[in-house]
Amino acid sequence: MPAREFLSEEDEQKIVAAIEKAEKNTTGEIRVHLEFKCKGDPLERAKILFHELEMDQTEARNGVILYIASDDKKVAIYGDEGISSQVDDDFWQKEIDRLITAFKQEKFDEGIEIVVGDIGERLKSYFPGTKSNRDELDNEISFEDNRGKKNDE
Ligand code: CA
Repeated sequence: MPAREFLSEEDEQKIVAAIEKAEKNTTGEIRVHLEFKCKGDPLERAKILFHELEMDQTEARNGVILYIASDDKKVAIYGDEGISSQVDDDFWQKEIDRLITAFKQEKFDEGIEIVVGDIGERLKSYFPGTKSNRDELDNEISFEDNRGKKNDE
């Protein structure tokens, strides 16, 4: 499913709002990255993007990327060292499972919103918001058009 059809513009706005809300009470940062294809391991891809998108530049190293390859139906969540040192791998896996379950029911935006909310709660417990809480990373969904050029597409 093409990423642009995967989420409508309205869905995107809802997700951006969910990110804003999740970040309100934490210094943590959440970004959703969407693309079509993922040839290899989605977690490896998520880590590469995390650095490419300079998400490792936050002050408390508490950025989290939620990675989705819509055609290949692969998802991964990767958190920077500040947050990943606090959270069990179980937590990330549970959220991934939650996303996959929602996607199977074609509740794409809803699934992402719920998981963004969960991650926000977790970030809040370790990295509560400060008075000068600034938005270190843009809340817009980052998107990559890496659609393959196969004839059957
Ligand atoms: Ca942000």
